[in-house]
Amino acid sequence: MTRFVFITGGVVSSLGKGIASAALAALLQARGYKVRMRKLDPYLNVDPGTMSPYQHGEVFITDDGAETDLDLGHYERFTGVHARRADNTTTGRIYSDVIARERRGDYLGGTVQVIPHITDAIKDVVVAGTEEYDFVLVEIGGTVGDIESLPFLEAIRQLRNDLGHNQTMCVHLTLLPYIPSAGELKTKPTQHSVKELQNVGIQPQVLLCRSDRPIPENERRKIANFCNVRSEAVIAALDVDTIYACPISYHNEGMDREVLRYFGLPFEGSPDLTRWEKIVHAIREPEGEVKVAVVGKYTALLDSYKSLAEALLHGGIANNVRVKLDWIESEEFEKSGDIAERLKDADAILVPGGFGERGAEGKIQAVRYARENGIPFLGICFGMQMAVIECARSLAGLTKASSTEFGPTSEPLVGLMTEWANGNELMRRREGGDLGGTMRLGAFPARLAAGSRAAEIYGTTDIRERHRHRWEVNLHYKDRLEKTGLRFSGMSPDGVLPEVVEYPDHPWFIGVQYHPELLSKPFDPHPLFAGFIGAARKRAESK
Ligand code: GLN
Repeated sequence: MTRFVFITGGVVSSLGKGIASAALAALLQARGYKVRMRKLDPYLNVDPGTMSPYQHGEVFITDDGAETDLDLGHYERFTGVHARRADNTTTGRIYSDVIARERRGDYLGGTVQVIPHITDAIKDVVVAGTEEYDFVLVEIGGTVGDIESLPFLEAIRQLRNDLGHNQTMCVHLTLLPYIPSAGELKTKPTQHSVKELQNVGIQPQVLLCRSDRPIPENERRKIANFCNVRSEAVIAALDVDTIYACPISYHNEGMDREVLRYFGLPFEGSPDLTRWEKIVHAIREPEGEVKVAVVGKYTALLDSYKSLAEALLHGGIANNVRVKLDWIESEEFEKSGDIAERLKDADAILVPGGFGERGAEGKIQAVRYARENGIPFLGICFGMQMAVIECARSLAGLTKASSTEFGPTSEPLVGLMTEWANGNELMRRREGGDLGGTMRLGAFPARLAAGSRAAEIYGTTDIRERHRHRWEVNLHYKDRLEKTGLRFSGMSPDGVLPEVVEYPDHPWFIGVQYHPELLSKPFDPHPLFAGFIGAARKRAESK
């Protein structure tokens, strides 16, 4: 039997609903249950693919090529279960599907309405493909009371009747603010938020209350009384120093116990949480510290680099060091020019993914600084493309080297495949003749050159990594660049698309066309991040 846990949020946003959901999933997993996680996003965009990184943060890419909400990254990092396209749905997606069906005539002349047509479509995506799981955790984006979330709330209300109360439950995440002048935690916002839920017919069974201190017994009882839940089901979600302490902290507060008890499952004893204890220990008691400069362009909203920041932290766990991140807006270098001063403390430099010309020159300068000064360097996606352009300009004498992403250029080191592979021998070699021309999204295999640093780091020559980009490094420049010492050490299996470049005579310099940060887990740090932070540690210790 598959059990559904619906997770809603109240009072304010940014309470960490995604992490709370992921931590609960990790606890159920530690109890031996098979879990799957889903997210329903109330906004009208069909997916977050076109949304600004400043508004929405990172777009998380699944193996099957879906552009999804960044919470799916948390789900994967806490459970290790890879998300699929079907695990993230938006209002825009639901409506566009229903309207497409209406245009096809599927409703046979009926009046198409929010109830039942939209809510039926929502219920279908919630339950589709969940048979093999013990638990499906479904997070509803946004906050209770938003007009946009109403159809989703109505759908889960109906699902509780359709599937039965023994197969579904609702967990509501709220805030208990501490008011210093009163000297107490205030329960009123939680009461109001639960009322709001009850107004749409939903009674939560567990309240997860974000709080900066333990909830006193009388406040707990008060919440229980006013919100119609058992007092033990009022769980404190205490502030923690690292998100990876959440599974342990929630367990100590009784979260998994209450969920299992509700479903009539055995809840005594403790799950094995050694995995999380080890991670938390490594984060809290590192042996040293490294400083990594991240030279990007969306540093005003660090959620844009969510998976990257986590993967760097995982690299620190693998090397027993604290990773201090210095987020630098690459345009700074274009203005001040004093790059050496700004980067002098960096033990390693990373240029992440990005879109558009703004800040590109500053990133190219950062690449050059890392290359010339033997500083460990990792270039990801756009960062790899800039590393190739820097090589062309500084070492191969191609002073006009650029990317067609920035406009027409006489030296398209980076271009669309339709620009540099169309109608030539490469097109025939390209599997199925597919030249893309659209975003390359999802997991693709690549082959690493035997004996390369990349192959050594991965411990294999066959890898599979997730991509999100439109432009590619132009293979026609390979020979000229390799003469300068840059090695094309990873290629698509058909040999057409450069996927990894490295300088063998540099202490640690790697550029990758894919996004390794999307696959890193705290309990299984990605080899590239483990290697990169290892190189940073070496440099820090030699200083
Ligand atoms: N803008 C570049 C491209 O589309 C790089 C994208 C990225 O870094 N994710 O190819």
